[in-house]
Amino acid sequence: MDAQLTERLAFQSDTSRDWSQCPFPYSIHSTPDGFMVCGPHAQTMEESLRGGTVSSVYIIVHKGCACVIDTGRFKESFFALTRVLNQYVTTLKYIILTHDHFDHVGNAERLRGEFGGEILAHSLDATLIANPLCIYDNEIIQYHYGANVYDTWRDMGYTPKTIAAMRKTTERLFNVPLQVDQYITEECMLDLNGLELRLLHTPGHSPGSLSVYVPASRSIYTGDLTFWVNPCRPYPIGNADKCVSSLERIRALGPRFCGHGHYLGIHNPLPRLNMIIGRHRTLERDILALLDTPLGIADLRARIFPDDPADSFAPIPENSIHAWLISLMHRNRIVRMAGRNTVRWRKA
Ligand SMILES: [Zn+2]
Ligand SMILES: [Zn+2]
Repeated sequence: MDAQLTERLAFQSDTSRDWSQCPFPYSIHSTPDGFMVCGPHAQTMEESLRGGTVSSVYIIVHKGCACVIDTGRFKESFFALTRVLNQYVTTLKYIILTHDHFDHVGNAERLRGEFGGEILAHSLDATLIANPLCIYDNEIIQYHYGANVYDTWRDMGYTPKTIAAMRKTTERLFNVPLQVDQYITEECMLDLNGLELRLLHTPGHSPGSLSVYVPASRSIYTGDLTFWVNPCRPYPIGNADKCVSSLERIRALGPRFCGHGHYLGIHNPLPRLNMIIGRHRTLERDILALLDTPLGIADLRARIFPDDPADSFAPIPENSIHAWLISLMHRNRIVRMAGRNTVRWRKA
C-alpha cells in the first residue's frame, strides 16, 4: 500500500492484535455458502455500545477461494473478517460492494491491501464511492443522478445549518473514498474456483445496488435492498419503484437463503420478502390516503410511523416517505406545494 492510502485509511495496522480481546460484540455464523460476520459494521462504536443495528458481512468460500460481500466500516469489523479469512481461506478473489454506503465499503481497501482480491461495484454508484462528499455538490448530483438533492433536503425541512452539520458528520465519519478495480456496467457471472456467482443489478436503495446470487445453493445476498424501512437514501439516489421491482425480482428467484446487510441472514426468506413488499405497498397507500389534506413529511411521518420502526431511526422513515412522494408525484397522483418555508403535498 502506498503512504497516501495508508494515511487515508487511518487504521492502525495492528494485525497482531488478539481478535478475541475485541471489546465489541461480533459473532460468526455459517451460511449455505460460507460465513456471515455479524456485529456493529454500520455505526460509530459509541452508537453500537448504546445498542443499535446489527449488520452482516458475508464470506462465500469455495475450495479455499473466497468472495467477501460488503466489508463493514471499522477496524473491529476488519479484525472479525480477518479471523475468518485467516482460518478458512487461501485466496481472496473478489470483494463485492453491494452499494456505496460507508458501512458496506469502508474496509474494502484494507482487505485488498492485506489479502489481495479485486474490488467490484456497479458503475452507477461510482460517483459516491469515489468521493462520498459529492452528495453535497449539487452540480455533480444533478449531472449523475438527474435531480436536485437540495430540493429533497428542502422537502425534508433541512436548513442550511442542518446541511452544514450533515456535511461535517460525513467528513468525520463516513468519508471513505475508494478505488474500485472494476465497475460493473452489465450483469455478469463470476467464477469462484468453479462456483458460479451471478451479479444482479437490483437498484432502489441506490442506483447501482447489486445483489449476488449463488444458483448452486439458491442464496441471494442483497445488501440494503431488503432493509425495512427502505429506501433510506435521499431522492434522487433512492427510488421507491425500483426498490419494489428489485424485491419482486429477487422473490421470483425463490431463494432459500437471503443474506442482507442489516440483520442476520435468513433461511427461507420468502415470507420476509413478501412482508417487505407488502409494507412498501401499504406505505404508498397510507401516504395517498392521508393527502386529502395537504401535509409535509414531518406530518406524514408522525401519522405513519408514530414510533421509530425497528432498526429505522430518523431520517430513514422520512427518506422512505419522500421516495414514495416523488413516485406518486411522477405519476401525477399528488402535487408538491412549496411555500416560503415549508413544502407540503396533496392529492392531485
Ligand atoms: Zn445502504
Ligand atoms: Zn447499510
